[in-house]
Amino acid sequence: MSYDDNNIFAKILRSEISCKKIYEDNFVLSFYDINPQKKIHALIIPKGKYIDLDDFSQKASSEEIVGLIKGINIVAKKLGMSVDTGKGYRALANISEHGGQEVPHLHFHLFGGENVGKMVE
Ligand code: 5GP
Repeated sequence: MSYDDNNIFAKILRSEISCKKIYEDNFVLSFYDINPQKKIHALIIPKGKYIDLDDFSQKASSEEIVGLIKGINIVAKKLGMSVDTGKGYRALANISEHGGQEVPHLHFHLFGGENVGKMVE
């Protein structure tokens, strides 16, 4: 499967569709999910064209990988849900069909602001 340039997150990266931006740097863009499942529901995506976490792990540069992982921490801190708040949060990536991935551009969901409950229903 090749990367689909017309997926919704590719359009957000090109500013063709707006988003409620939380954070941006050279490696990542973070914004609020349009259909929040928890009190805080943020998304963070790499700027590069990666379909899912497997694709990213295989093809991304070390800088991009570090950039995404560090970006998660930066966004969690910005939203007041990092471990230093004593509360924490959940970072989750759905991968392909069995993982329930709908948008084919790698993204992590960051859920928090409350106890987010059981991991798998
Ligand atoms: P997935 O199921 O692929 O892991 O999650 C895709 C997420 O993207 C869903 O939680 C969905 O609500 C969110 N989403 C889909 N379209 C848009 C959009 O246009 N803007 C934003 N901010 N989120 C979107």
